[in-house]
Amino acid sequence: MKKHNFSAGPSILAAEVIENTAKAVTDLNGIGLSVMEISHRGKDFQAVMDETVALFRELLQIPEGYQVLFLGGGASMQFCMVPYNLLNKKAAYLETGVWAKKAAKEAKFFGEVNVVASSSDKNFNYIPKGFSIPADADYFHITTNNTIYGTEILEDYDSPVPLVADMSSDIFSRPVDISKYALIYGGAQKNLGPAGVTFVIVKEDILGKSGRPIPTMLDYQTHIDNGSMFNTPPCLPIYTCMETLRWIKKLGGVGKMQEINQAKAKILYDEIDRNELFVGTAEKDSRSVMNVCFVMNEAYKELEQEFLSFASSLGMVGLKGHRSVGGFRASTYNAMPVESVQALVDAMKEFEKKHKK
Ligand SMILES: *Cc1c(COP(=O)(O)O)cnc(C)c1O
Repeated sequence: MKKHNFSAGPSILAAEVIENTAKAVTDLNGIGLSVMEISHRGKDFQAVMDETVALFRELLQIPEGYQVLFLGGGASMQFCMVPYNLLNKKAAYLETGVWAKKAAKEAKFFGEVNVVASSSDKNFNYIPKGFSIPADADYFHITTNNTIYGTEILEDYDSPVPLVADMSSDIFSRPVDISKYALIYGGAQKNLGPAGVTFVIVKEDILGKSGRPIPTMLDYQTHIDNGSMFNTPPCLPIYTCMETLRWIKKLGGVGKMQEINQAKAKILYDEIDRNELFVGTAEKDSRSVMNVCFVMNEAYKELEQEFLSFASSLGMVGLKGHRSVGGFRASTYNAMPVESVQALVDAMKEFEKKHKK
C-alpha cells in the first residue's frame, strides 16, 4: 500500500516526479546513459541545468540582476556562507526557531549579531510583530517557514537593508516578490527534491562588499562565474528538482500551488479547532501552511501514542512531532495530495468518536 507521507523532510515528492527520475536514472531521454553517469559539462546535463534555472526564473518571476545557484552543503552551509559573503560589521536576525538560531550562531563568527525579536518565550509558537530593523545592519535574516514549530511568515517584508531568507520549507508553495529579497536559500529536501542540493537566489549587486577574502568554494561569485559548475554539482538531485518544477508548471504555477496548499491546510486546521481531543500549538495568525503542528488536549494527553499507532495502522507515516514541540506534525508540502489530508482528518474524527469523554 502506498503510504500517506506526512514527513517533514526529506519528504513527499509527486509520484510522476519519482517515476520520471527513475526513468532518467535508467536512461536519460533515450541517450543510452543514466543521468548519473554522464559528464556534468556535457550537453545532456547542461540542458538539465539550464532548464532548472529557467523554470526557477519563470515560476518565481525572478527579475534581472539575480542569479540562481545549485550548491552542496545544505541550508546549514548557507548559515555560514551568507555572513561570510555579506557581513561587514553587523547583521540583524529574526529568531523564530532552532534553524533561525543556528543561522545567527554562524553569523557571530563574522561580526555583531543583532536579534531584533524572538519568540523563544513561547517555544517559538508565533511570529514576532512590531520589531524594527536597524538601518545600519548589513542585512536582515529571516526564516520564512519554521518547519519544527509550524509557524510561517506569509508576507514579503519591507526591509531597509538587504533581506535574506531561509525558504527551505516553503519555497514554491506561494508567489514571492523576489525583488524584496537580496538572497534566498534552502535545502531542496522539503518542498522541491531529494536531499543533496541547495538552491540560492542571489542579487548580484550585494556581493563583493564584505571586505574580506573568501575561500573559493564559499564565495558566491565563484559559482555565479561558473554557472554552478565550478566543481561537480549534485546532478541527480538537480534533475529531480527540474521534474518537480515541470510538475508545478503543469499544475498552473505557484499561484495555483498556494490555492491548493491553503485549501489543504484549512481542512486540517478546521478539524484541529473543531475536535475536542486535539489542539493546535501555533498561534492562529502565525500558522504555517506547510507544517501543521498539534498536540492532544490536556484531558487526553495519555492517548498520544495510541493516536500515532492508529494513524500508522491506516498507512500514515511521519506524523510524530519534533521532540521540541511533541505531539504531532503533519507536513502538507506541495506534493501532498488532499486525499491524504482528508484521510488524516477522517482518522481524527474516528478517534474522537472512540475516545471522547
Ligand atoms: C531542514 C531545514 C534546514 C536544514 O537544512 P539542511 O539542508 O539539512 O542543512 C534549515 N532551515 C530550515 C527552515 C529547515 O526546514
